[in-house]
Amino acid sequence: MKIYLNGKLVDEKDAVVSVFDHGLLYGDGVFEGTRVYDGNIAFLGEHMDRLLDSAKVIDLNIGMTKEELVAATVETCQANGIKNGYLRHVVTRGVGTLGLNPYLCKQAQVIIIAADIQLYTVELYEKGMRVITAGTIRNMAEAVNPRVKSLNYLNNIMAKIEAVNAGVMECLMLNAQGYVAEASGDNVFAVKGNKLMTPPAWCGGLEGITREKVMQVAREAGMDVVETVMTRYELWTADEVFLTGTAAEVIAVVDLDKRLIGSGKPGPVTKKLAQAYRKLAGTDGVRFE
Ligand code: PMP
Repeated sequence: MKIYLNGKLVDEKDAVVSVFDHGLLYGDGVFEGTRVYDGNIAFLGEHMDRLLDSAKVIDLNIGMTKEELVAATVETCQANGIKNGYLRHVVTRGVGTLGLNPYLCKQAQVIIIAADIQLYTVELYEKGMRVITAGTIRNMAEAVNPRVKSLNYLNNIMAKIEAVNAGVMECLMLNAQGYVAEASGDNVFAVKGNKLMTPPAWCGGLEGITREKVMQVAREAGMDVVETVMTRYELWTADEVFLTGTAAEVIAVVDLDKRLIGSGKPGPVTKKLAQAYRKLAGTDGVRFE
């Protein structure tokens, strides 16, 4: 496998970063996860915008323009013959001292990995997921803003530990006020009649690109799409609940905290939106040969 590392494609064994890199020492950096479908890098422009925005918020100079990032991404896919897969962009603060000061790190490290994708099982999509609410609350925006896709994912990992220990794959995270934020690695939606609801990002979620595109296809399908403050009441009493994310796409939640959602099976709206999203992801993006 060839890894893009600071302007060069290098062998996997040579793709190494220093133990003094602040990405490792402090989780100081940003990242993106992007899918490739039949030679189309889905929503690459949106992913690179979010990467640059995340970097801006933490005052990290990536040292590359959006166009350069897009070109480097295509080059990495081509070098690895990846036509279907999963991309990981990682930008670390770079090598510094053992102190916190990020301004002593002179050069950000830009890494692009083009790999296969680890998917949930087909069975999980057919039957739907069981999810619990984690006791770990989502980071407060005033502390570490969840809108920044940073390398510091301990908040999500603490929640994921609870999920795995409870025997499920995902968990719901609430914010400090008890309102629904998102799942540990996905956004959350509820369907009630013709209404599609999801919490606004300020409730403590990442502004997921899948979330954005699912809202788009739902509007096109004539649904009433609202970003609204939500409690678990709206999820427990919904007709359907689903999660969205680049890797998961759209996946039904059929049980939340032992409350069956709707019929307890993936519902028709979830299935329809999953299909429409997949169609869009296959065409909207950057295509390469
Ligand atoms: N929330 C979190 C915490 C995430 O890490 C992700 C990405 N896996 C998402 C939501 C979904 O975002 P996207 O649709 O852009 O992949």
